[in-house]
Amino acid sequence: MSKERRMIEIAPGRMSPGGRMTEHLDSWGHSCPYCQGNGFFWQEDEFRDRYKEPCPICKGNGKLDAMVTIEWKASENV
Ligand SMILES: [Zn+2]
Repeated sequence: MSKERRMIEIAPGRMSPGGRMTEHLDSWGHSCPYCQGNGFFWQEDEFRDRYKEPCPICKGNGKLDAMVTIEWKASENV
């Protein structure tokens, strides 16, 4: 089974004293692992009719976005 894999390469960019020490990186459209990207689960009501219940994790979208914040600070390791 093929698998999509995304990686983040971390490296400090241009920096200046008093400047920002954080950076944001968004990674969109990851397949939701809870519903396998379907966005819903089949359910049965009291009349045994099947209906789609939206996935509580991805809210029916089937996909998740990763909002990554990288915070730079002076190293404490010698
Ligand atoms: Zn989901």
